[in-house]
Formats: sequence, structure tokens, C-alpha cells
Amino acid sequence: MSLIIAQNIKETANTNGELRAGGTDLQERRRSRISAGPIIDIRRLQGLDQIEWQADGSAVIGAMVTIDAVANDPKIQAAYPGLAKAAGGLATPQIRLMGTMGGALLQHTRCPFYRHPAYNCHKNGGDECFARDGHNPNGVVFDLGPCVYPHPATLGMALLAYEAEVDIDGVGRRSIDELYGDGSDPTRDHTLEPGQILTHIHLLPPIPQEKAAYFRSISRAEAEWPIVECLVRLVISDDQITFARIGVGGVANIPLRLENVEQALMSQSPGRETVEKAAQLAAAGTNPLPQTVDKVRFLVNTVWHTLEVLSPKS
Ligand SMILES: Cc1cc2nc3c(=O)[nH]c(=O)nc-3n(C[C@H](O)[C@H](O)[C@H](O)COP(=O)(O)OP(=O)(O)OC[C@H]3O[C@@H](n4cnc5c(N)ncnc54)[C@H](O)[C@@H]3O)c2cc1C
Repeated sequence: MSLIIAQNIKETANTNGELRAGGTDLQERRRSRISAGPIIDIRRLQGLDQIEWQADGSAVIGAMVTIDAVANDPKIQAAYPGLAKAAGGLATPQIRLMGTMGGALLQHTRCPFYRHPAYNCHKNGGDECFARDGHNPNGVVFDLGPCVYPHPATLGMALLAYEAEVDIDGVGRRSIDELYGDGSDPTRDHTLEPGQILTHIHLLPPIPQEKAAYFRSISRAEAEWPIVECLVRLVISDDQITFARIGVGGVANIPLRLENVEQALMSQSPGRETVEKAAQLAAAGTNPLPQTVDKVRFLVNTVWHTLEVLSPKS
């Protein structure tokens, strides 16, 4: 699709403007003076607020569809149960009603140093990560680049586990991996250039018999980003795991998939022993910061618990 006012938007964005969808992330950064340029409201763009279903049963979700609509759509719940659960588990009912799918994917880091007007970190013009040597118990356990605060997007993690793709107006289709990059560039939360608009999210056709669980380790029921979160998708057939996808959030400056844990589950009987053994592998490759060493156990236990929800306790 082509957006008639895209060129206009690009020009305004290049003059330090920022797009506003639901505004729930942007307005908070305006309040703390991290974002101060012109606002380009994209709520008027036509055709981005629908969930469309293709002949093969797959869904295309417009970027302006609200998080609440995805969480509560019965067809999404049936076809993509993990996505619906993750959408329904994040933030608060009010944020889910206002926040959009595009904004959820492209929100900026919640790092308190980035969001404090007195600190000039990599993401707001400086050349330092204050979280790296400062107070960082919420930091990453996979240290992938100069910025050590976890990526905030629950739905980025969920859509990674669903191997979804996104359309970027004027650019084309990109995988979720490409949307976030490899975490080595500390100046970015995602790879979109100023003024580029994410228009749609494309899901693969649903897998019949898929079971999914989402769990967030969090110190209160809602209104907080999790310490670690995990989405597991499994297909179990004749007492064997025939398909596994695992996404984790809160542990790296990009959403991650744990392919080593997925592989360890394949062709195994989904019992307690399998799950326990596979979950331990979540710690492989971690290189925590001095203050996040304990978070590695949170990661393992979060993956373990999410897997256990789907496995017979034998
Ligand atoms: C208390 C609280 C708890 C929260 N907990 C969680 C949580 O656990 N997990 C989680 O993921 N989130 C959490 N959130 C964040 C919330 O999900 C985001 O604020 C919301 O999803 C942002 O959506 P929005 O439409 O309001 O985005 P906006 O604020 O409008 O935009 C966010 C950013 O995305 C850009 N943008 C938006 N749409 C597009 C588009 N289509 N194309 C290009 N750029 C675009 C904007 O320019 C802006 O930079 C929480 C928020 C609060 C207040």
C-alpha cells in the first residue's frame, strides 16, 4: 500500500519530528523532555486499523490496531494463542486500549538513564552507557553491544517467536530480526529511519494443534515491565514435541529466540525431565553484568515455568 502523506511525514520527521500513534510512550518522553520536536500524528492514516485474514488462514495486522484488540480478538486467540496472551499480559488495560501494535514494537527503551534529561547516553546524543557501570539490576544478561538495558517490546519478543514479518512503507517486508538488528548499535531501539512508517504485521498461517504459554516474572501483577518474560509455542503429537519456538524478553537489548532450547525439545517426550533439562540451556551464552548475575537464574526459571505450563507433570 502507499500512504499519500508519507513524503510529507518523512520531511517533518527529518526536522527532528516524531510519529505519534497511541502516544503512550511518546507522551511520557515529551514529559521528561527526551522528545521535543514536532509531533506527526499518524492516527488519521487510513487502513491501518484492521486485522485482515488471508485465504491460507494467516492474519495481517495493521500497525494502528490496538494491543487490546489483538488480545481480545477470538480469531487471534484461536490462531495465535501466544500472541494474544502476550498482548493481554502487558502494561495495563488503559495502555492496551490506547497503545497500538506499531507503537508497541517501536517504543523506546525504558532505561532510566535514557529517560532522564540530565544524562546524555548513546540513544540521546551522547557516547556513554550510564547503565553499564551504574545501577543496573534490571540490565541485560546477554551483553550484545554498548547499550545494556533490555529491549522493552513484549510483542517484539512474541512476534519473533511467531516468525512474523513487518511492512515498512517505501521499504518493503522485513523480518522481526531485521526490524531490531543485532543489538550492536547502541543509538537505536529498532532499524527504522526517521519518518519510515511500519504499516502491517504479517503472520504465518496458524499451526493446528499449537499450544502456547506466556509467562512474565514480575514483582507485581501489572503496570510494570517484567524482569524476564517468555513465550513458548509447542506442538505435541503422539507424546513427542514436533515443533518448538521460544521467545524471551528482558534479557538483551533486542528480543531473543532461544533456538538451542527449541532444539533440545524437538522429538522429546514433553515430560518434566525434558523440560527441566532444556530450560537449563537458556543460560548458555549469557554474559551478565556484575549486577545481573542473579537474573540468569530468573531466565532459566522463567523458561522452565513457561514450558511446564504446557507439559504433563510426569
Ligand atoms: C505502566 C506501563 C507498563 C508497560 N508495560 C509494558 C510491557 O510489559 N511490555 C511492553 O511491551 N510494553 C509495555 N508498556 C509500553 C506500552 O506497551 C507502549 O507505551 C505502547 O505499546 C506504545 O504504543 P503507542 O501506540 O502508544 O506508541 P507511541 O507512543 O505513539 O509511539 C511509540 C514510538 O513508536 C513510533 N511509532 C508508533 N507507531 C509507528 C508506526 N506505525 N511506524 C513507525 N513508527 C511508529 C513513534 O514514533 C514512537 O517513537 C508499558 C507502559 C506503561 C505505561
